[in-house]
Amino acid sequence: MVVDKKYKIATLASHSALQILKGAQQEGFETVAVCIKGREQPYKQFKVADKIISIKDFDEFEGIQEQLIKENAIIIPHASFIAYMGFERIEKLKVPYFGNKKILHWESDRSMERKWLKAAGLKLPKIFEKPEDIDRPVIIKFHGAGGGKGYFLAKNYKDFKKKIKLHAGKGYVIQEYILGVHMYAHYFHSPLTGETELMGFDKRYESNVDSLGRISARDQMALPQEQVDPSYVIVGNMPLVVRESYLPRFIRKGENVVKESKKIASPGLFGPFCLETIMTPEEDIITFEISARIVAGTNPYVNGSPYSWLRYNEPMSTGRRIAREIKLAIEKNNIDKVLS
Ligand code: ATP
Repeated sequence: MVVDKKYKIATLASHSALQILKGAQQEGFETVAVCIKGREQPYKQFKVADKIISIKDFDEFEGIQEQLIKENAIIIPHASFIAYMGFERIEKLKVPYFGNKKILHWESDRSMERKWLKAAGLKLPKIFEKPEDIDRPVIIKFHGAGGGKGYFLAKNYKDFKKKIKLHAGKGYVIQEYILGVHMYAHYFHSPLTGETELMGFDKRYESNVDSLGRISARDQMALPQEQVDPSYVIVGNMPLVVRESYLPRFIRKGENVVKESKKIASPGLFGPFCLETIMTPEEDIITFEISARIVAGTNPYVNGSPYSWLRYNEPMSTGRRIAREIKLAIEKNNIDKVLS
């Protein structure tokens, strides 16, 4: 299939940009990487960017908008783009944007996100409104702390009171700590076909929590407290294939989240998204967060995941799936259905 050469695919050179740009090239699009000066090298070396536009910092993004519009570029958002720009700025952008901007608000506000996921019938960790009510292990999450930086665990109210002193003045939420294995489920919802596709799973590699198990409890006791307090700084992602009998539940969860999103932010969530879940030993799937865009956990699958291979019989990364959707929308004269 020949793509309408007029459109180009652009993204901010960070997070999952290599995959997004590679996938766009595979689908026949020309690509544009918007780079922070000094960070161009990977995008040149891996040959995924047909054009690089360098900016000094993220504040300059609006300054290159006209250029992107002239290029006839469609911008693909990812977590870094959203985190650095903020959803208020993104809402005002004029360059065509893949996805539904209205959903960003629901994703970025923890209580709105919770309302959405609850309405979709997902099981969520309990929230303790008052620290005095803590009756089980909890995780304290600070507002706007990307990547779990500074989060801490408390086993009871007394422990909480002691530890929170180090974080005076910060806003936080107290969430039940779920003990189990982490599974990040990747989806793609197509507004053209109406289907929610399961694209893959990953697990995260977080520092220092993923190294604590390498030290015996006895040796942990000998270390200074701050070194053995778990932290959740994400440093990478690993591929994961889950027990096949879990798949119907995961597929249903994705579909329900999309269904509910149509009621709260028409036309609803579409494109890639991820449910961040923990599977307990009782095989309950608890969802602690939704990411309403491509997640870095899809990066191990530049050549497709086992699931996308089953479905497509050709390498189909999430980045490529985005470009495929745009291509199909162009062919069907329906580009407005995938942009906002
Ligand atoms: P990001 O935006 O990168 O996803 P974040 O700041 O929103 O990060 P979360 O994803 O909510 O943070 O949490 C960071 C990490 O903390 C998770 O990957 C997980 O390891 C751990 N975590 C979060 N919530 C819970 C929970 N309720 N029980 C157990 N572990 C949790």
